[in-house]
Amino acid sequence: MSLRFYNTLTQQLEEFKPLHDNVVRMYTCGPTVYNYAHIGNFRSFVFPDILRRWLRARGYTLDHVMNITDIEDKIIRDSKAAGKSIDEFTSVYTTAFLEDTATLRLERPERIVPATQHIPEMVEAVQHLTERGHTYVSDGSVYYRISTFPEYGKLSHNDFSGIRAGARVDVDEYDKDDARDFVLWKAAKEGEPAWDTPIGKGRPGWHIECSAMAMKYLGDTLDIHTGGVDLTFPHHENEIAQAEGITGKQFVRFWLHAEHLSVDSQKMSKSLGNIYTLRDLKERGFAPEALRYLLASVPYRKKLNFTFDGLKAAATSIERLRNYKLRMETDKFPDGTNAELISRTQAARAAFDAALDDDLNTAGALGTVFEYIRDTNTAMDAGQFPAGNVTDALEFLDRFDSVFDVLKPSARIGGLSDSEVDALIVERTAAKKSRNFGRSDEIRAELAAQGVILEDTKEGVRWKRS
Ligand code: AMP
Ligand code: ZN
Repeated sequence: MSLRFYNTLTQQLEEFKPLHDNVVRMYTCGPTVYNYAHIGNFRSFVFPDILRRWLRARGYTLDHVMNITDIEDKIIRDSKAAGKSIDEFTSVYTTAFLEDTATLRLERPERIVPATQHIPEMVEAVQHLTERGHTYVSDGSVYYRISTFPEYGKLSHNDFSGIRAGARVDVDEYDKDDARDFVLWKAAKEGEPAWDTPIGKGRPGWHIECSAMAMKYLGDTLDIHTGGVDLTFPHHENEIAQAEGITGKQFVRFWLHAEHLSVDSQKMSKSLGNIYTLRDLKERGFAPEALRYLLASVPYRKKLNFTFDGLKAAATSIERLRNYKLRMETDKFPDGTNAELISRTQAARAAFDAALDDDLNTAGALGTVFEYIRDTNTAMDAGQFPAGNVTDALEFLDRFDSVFDVLKPSARIGGLSDSEVDALIVERTAAKKSRNFGRSDEIRAELAAQGVILEDTKEGVRWKRS
């Protein structure tokens, strides 16, 4: 069977192949950096990581873009409250996000693109929409007139034919079934950040950000677009209206949406005090890979209910896998090769692959792995697992770990894991590049205090622990 994904656009499981050659052009809606990302947010980022890894296992190369929303209503509100500039305020959370993703072993998309560095592209996109008759101006703000895009609603499968023309909304967030003209460019307001541009002084709306950056880096038609299910409407519906309103071509071939995570069967909310960040879980003594395992283990289109028992169970599963690997590497096995076991391993690998090909059925894939471990452990206990079968079994485990990536324990010396050190070094290089030497020196000192020594070489930065 071939690789297939459930496409929100067609509401069907469809065979996946990229449009051009072997390269998958993919876009993921990234975080809004006004706070630390919570474990629900990370579910919608672990999912594209598993997707990336599986696409690569299937022979594809990735061109994956993720945005950082670093200008938006909540950011403006909270940065004001904190008495900080937008940049000062968002850089803290952007860095924290990159650190957390590294800690969770999420592969870096080929490009991570901040909205504020793409204002000209967004302005140009609004201008193209105006040329094509999709916009109107009101009180200095530019709006998208959704009645000019008859296909509006095709992604969320809502019928908007009866919408009231001209009703408009200019906030970044609004109710799910509120179908109104949305803002593309917001006129400058007293005390808010604004850019001087040919379409007036102001700032971009949230939706135009993704369409403009996705098309800049990935072209008119993307293979895959991912995000949390709550983004389907209106955000992704608006992305389509913007992009297709400009190009007249299909914007995205496969729309993949990750279901939500709840905590103890409830929505995460401040009032319930059940919003957890990765940092909270680390403080409670959980290894980051336990969260990674838990988030990856439930197929992305199923709801995931987070509990601490579930997190403990994830840690236990990882322990079982590590013990198995250790046994395989260190036990003395009888000589020879067992042909039946060779086919058992081949069958397990085929079932593992088939599960992931089937819309990333991670639960099915894990089921295959644990069944295999149980059977082969039994064979080992009975002295019926010969040394000649070890390599195959370890290769199967490697294939599992190339996707799930939980076998290596997080190194913890001086309080910083390897991936956290890596993330700080990336940040330091960026700080130096933008001539922010204060910050780069600060990071060097911070790392030194943690016993990490940096060495700047021609090939880049090397580091070791003292
Ligand atoms: P935001 O930082 O609010 O822009 O959200 C980043 C991503 O997290 C988006 O793809 C959201 O759909 C996703 N998201 C937000 N809350 C949850 C949740 N409880 N479970 C899963 N994903 C979520
Ligand atoms: Zn987006």
